[in-house]
Amino acid sequence: MPKQKGRVTFKEEFCKGCGLCVSVCPVHILKLKEDALNKKGYNPIGVTEMEKCIACISCALMCPDSVITVEKI
Ligand code: SF4
Ligand code: SF4
Repeated sequence: MPKQKGRVTFKEEFCKGCGLCVSVCPVHILKLKEDALNKKGYNPIGVTEMEKCIACISCALMCPDSVITVEKI
């Protein structure tokens, strides 16, 4: 059976750059944007290879600020 695919979106302005979501992603596609700052002054979260997302939802569950939404596609 093919793995579930997912799409992640972020409310970047609420991200505090803590990196918790980065540490739990099993396919290692979450990365803080080192070249960007949000309005709070943090490097916000981003995704490198969206096509590898397996929609496990770990990142959304881990985020203390509900920044991440995961859709199954
Ligand atoms: S849903 Fe899972 S695979 Fe997709 S970005 Fe979040 S932690 Fe990674
Ligand atoms: S866990 Fe939430 S606040 Fe922390 S880096 Fe990830 S998206 Fe940003």
